[in-house]
Amino acid sequence: MSPKLQPVRGTHDILPEEARKRRFIEAALAGVCERYNYGEIATPVFEFSDVFHRTLGDTSDVVTKETYTFTDRGGESLTLRPEFTAGVVRAFISNGLQDKLPFKVYYHGPAFRYERPQKGRLRQFHQFGAELVGEADPLADAEMIAMSAHALSALGLLDHVKLELNSLGDAESRQAYRGALVAYFKDRQAQLSEDSKQRLERNPLRILDSKDEGDRRLIIDAPQAQDYFTPDASAFFDIVQEGLEALNIKFEINPRIVRGLDYYSHTVFEFTTDKLGAQGTVLAGGRYDGLVKLMGGPDVPGVGFAAGIERLLALMEVVNADGMRVSPPKVIAVIPIDAAQEMEALKLADALRHQNFTVELITRGNMGKKMKKADKLGATAVLLLGEDEVKAGEVTLRWLATGEQQRLPVQSVVQALMQQDGL
Ligand code: ATP
Ligand code: MG
Repeated sequence: MSPKLQPVRGTHDILPEEARKRRFIEAALAGVCERYNYGEIATPVFEFSDVFHRTLGDTSDVVTKETYTFTDRGGESLTLRPEFTAGVVRAFISNGLQDKLPFKVYYHGPAFRYERPQKGRLRQFHQFGAELVGEADPLADAEMIAMSAHALSALGLLDHVKLELNSLGDAESRQAYRGALVAYFKDRQAQLSEDSKQRLERNPLRILDSKDEGDRRLIIDAPQAQDYFTPDASAFFDIVQEGLEALNIKFEINPRIVRGLDYYSHTVFEFTTDKLGAQGTVLAGGRYDGLVKLMGGPDVPGVGFAAGIERLLALMEVVNADGMRVSPPKVIAVIPIDAAQEMEALKLADALRHQNFTVELITRGNMGKKMKKADKLGATAVLLLGEDEVKAGEVTLRWLATGEQQRLPVQSVVQALMQQDGL
């Protein structure tokens, strides 16, 4: 096959069986968010590049190395979204929604990052997430984490993940912490990876998120954010933890969690698994109090989460013994015995679809072939139309599992089919 006919590296086609599983995941997660009174939002797949460059920070890996940015025919610099939060906040501001706080939305769709493709790391991947804008209460963080846990539980995954929690403190704490980190890593600069040497200048916190082995060894003894918290930052984090305890949500404090993007403050969290190899974070989120203002909106706080749908799906395949099974709809086959009954069969198939049955009309080949096809489709029942049946205004209904069959008036077909379990 010509290489041009392959999908681009890091992208893949979603065929019907997988699409059905994804739809199940999205519907389950949307259902959970609706319980917390969130509504769905859909923002464009691309935005002016500034939306991401200003907000994700020119220092973050996502912006410096991972965005798909291009100039369109009108000369505008546009970027395919690498994540949703910036676009959702842009939408909040553009639609003038500051008088309608809190703004509570969930979303799902594709995101794009120019990363090195590997297991669990794609260039076009999909996220499901939620954002809450306009709520400064630490209990909102606890509720956001609870909603995330609830979402994972709806997929049967909560027992297979671990909640790791950290706080970056407020702006003042972060500033003091930054100083301590710079001092620590400056003393060990020679041992840092090239990337982290750069980070040291621009955003030392992000060294903690480095995936480099050597960096990771240095990180073990690096100063911890908590030691630089203001009393307010400590109190905030205490309430988040109390909230989780009240809800019986187990967590571990992991001072190394800083998140990949620059705009977080206070609470950050990740739900991780050791069942997916190196790419073990299935869902992550946190508080971003400065982001809306940074983007030119009012000074309102925010908190949110995002999950990678491919990773959720992969984990569901791993933890369910026979893989994840979402049953396709049960199919009814309509078969005209001869060409003369085709129009009647066409009409019957269509009428049944309007009654919400999934119907396959089979007209090709002799009777043997037609029945074989019905079998191959996994049809539960076949409706046969021969000359006699059409004349009498009847059909022959045959259940494929038992071979049992009966003739009945066309108008009784729906009722007869409905008596069968699962149809
Ligand atoms: P990682 O540390 O794995 O690079 P991240 O910090 O860049 O993740 P976020 O920006 O927080 O990830 O995105 C939220 C979630 O989206 C991740 O936890 C993960 O499940 C998923 N995700 C992120 N990047 C990719 C990717 N390239 N391919 C597949 N899923 C991804
Ligand atoms: Mg990343």
